[in-house]
Amino acid sequence: MTLKVGDIKQYLYCPRIIYYTYVAPVDRKVTPKMVYGKEEHIEFERLERRRTLRAYRLAEGERRFRTPLESPRLGLRGVLDMHVVTSLGCLPVEVKYTASRPGLNHKYQLVAYAMLLEDAYGKPVRHGYLYLIPSKNVYVVEITPNARAFVRRMLLQIADLIRRETFPPATRRAGRCVDCEYRRFCGDVV
Ligand code: SF4
Repeated sequence: MTLKVGDIKQYLYCPRIIYYTYVAPVDRKVTPKMVYGKEEHIEFERLERRRTLRAYRLAEGERRFRTPLESPRLGLRGVLDMHVVTSLGCLPVEVKYTASRPGLNHKYQLVAYAMLLEDAYGKPVRHGYLYLIPSKNVYVVEITPNARAFVRRMLLQIADLIRRETFPPATRRAGRCVDCEYRRFCGDVV
């Protein structure tokens, strides 16, 4: 089966989301935050087309937006927000709508996109960027061998959860349940 890059982000946020997506699919509630985040992505793209690449500390490069990527080797696909093609290689950029610092789920989502870009271009990707809305802060993420191995482990764990149809325990971080769009299906969380 082919998993989506977003599955890694969701699995790290709470494995139950994978269960509700693949094993016992439920209607996902569209929250105002999701709608706003989508609008902000469109605005990011509009503004980014007019900006220099200074935020990424790049002197040259060509931006490409919303690129569909797929790797049969990894069993993974996704649509990357933006990447910059330079004479030295290409660099993924993921846009996140969050007021706090990027989470591990965001980091490994970016690593997964870097791995897809490597397959697409046949060149190693050494780092990528997380662009945070609304702060406009850009975080550099190194694409290390350990990070790649972690992503591959996550993909195996997600596939195993789906194959075994295991209902996972709730996330230990109860605060995540507060505005989770799947909350009404979890009877055991506050
Ligand atoms: S409500 Fe909590 S336990 Fe249920 S899916 Fe959401 S984050 Fe996970």
